[in-house]
Amino acid sequence: MRTLDDLDVEGQRVLVRVDFNVPLDQDGNITDDARIRAALPTLEELREKGAARLVLLAHLGRPKDREPEFSLKPAAERLGELLGAEVALAPNLDAVPDVEIVMVENVRYEPGETKNDPELARRYAALADVYVNDAFGTAHRAHASTEAVAHLLPAAAGRLLEREVTTLTGILEDPRRPLVAVVGGAKVTDKIGVLDAFLERADRVLIGGAMCFPFFAAQGHDVGDSKCEAEGVDPARRALDGGGEKLALPTDLVAGRDFSADTEVRALDGVDVPGGWMGLDIGPGSSEAYAEVIRDAGTVFWNGPMGAFELEPFAAGTRRVAEAMAECEGTTVVGGGDSAAALAEFGLAGRVDHLSTGGGASLELIEGKPLPGVEALA
Ligand code: ADP
Ligand code: MG
Repeated sequence: MRTLDDLDVEGQRVLVRVDFNVPLDQDGNITDDARIRAALPTLEELREKGAARLVLLAHLGRPKDREPEFSLKPAAERLGELLGAEVALAPNLDAVPDVEIVMVENVRYEPGETKNDPELARRYAALADVYVNDAFGTAHRAHASTEAVAHLLPAAAGRLLEREVTTLTGILEDPRRPLVAVVGGAKVTDKIGVLDAFLERADRVLIGGAMCFPFFAAQGHDVGDSKCEAEGVDPARRALDGGGEKLALPTDLVAGRDFSADTEVRALDGVDVPGGWMGLDIGPGSSEAYAEVIRDAGTVFWNGPMGAFELEPFAAGTRRVAEAMAECEGTTVVGGGDSAAALAEFGLAGRVDHLSTGGGASLELIEGKPLPGVEALA
């Protein structure tokens, strides 16, 4: 993969694909600008190295048409504040003003973008002399602004994309041991590729979240009214058969009557969930045992919360795991949107070594799948 070290940008117009797919509230205010901040090192380096112009491409959401609620205006404004520089916003590719920093409107307003359309890629390429991709969060998609355009100009990875790829591939290729994977969240089928990858390479794999219940169902436990993905039971059974001693499941749970913060709460000593109850968090025995394994790890990768952490009565398991990540002296890496949100909510986002900006992209990389946006920079 070529990086900024391999690209001469002095006096050049640089086309930069960034990931500014930030969450907005109802009034169009950015509620979390982490992705914009994450692009700053690359943008600042390009300016310091004397790039003549920066032309930024980014997407927001999944617009069907040119709906104004998917405009990049808030992102362009926030970037301007963070850079302390004027950032213009071009309404479309035919009206890009001749200024130092310009962001083009949502690439997904262009019908050819998600089709990796070569003609659209040519129009992007015409805006600059060289291309830099720093949008790790969309690197798993072969789109015109992430894949096709990379073949039309001298191309390189930005610092964020470079760091994401080196950190995540480093976990798989040469981790400090013991390597511990903590996998939770909603569905086994979302995470089975990652589970398989870690069952092959990790020393311990700790399971939490609603994902436990297909495992418990496969073992013949009662899951009560827990969220238990039916299609997850077979993959869970396979993981149990192949995982052996490596695989750890919770030994106690916290249950609620329903998915709400003011529901009746009950601690369960084992993992059988009675009818009329749903398992919504791992219990204190499990989270303490997990915390111990995490604290002593050489490398930890965590994806997926241990419970319904959005609801205070069911946040303790996820909080304990997050604290153990912060206490661990090994390399700690977190992937996944909800896991990152949980870490931020507990005020621990700055206490891990790497917080991946790419949910789907980080999982696909861990699964060993080639990422089209990265391959195109080879
Ligand atoms: P990530 O975004 O980190 O990859 P996921 O999207 O897979 O994580 O899962 C996060 C969601 O899973 C959260 O909304 C959380 O409420 C839910 N969840 C976790 N455990 C449970 C549970 N026991 N019951 C119901 N929902 C759960
Ligand atoms: Mg999620």
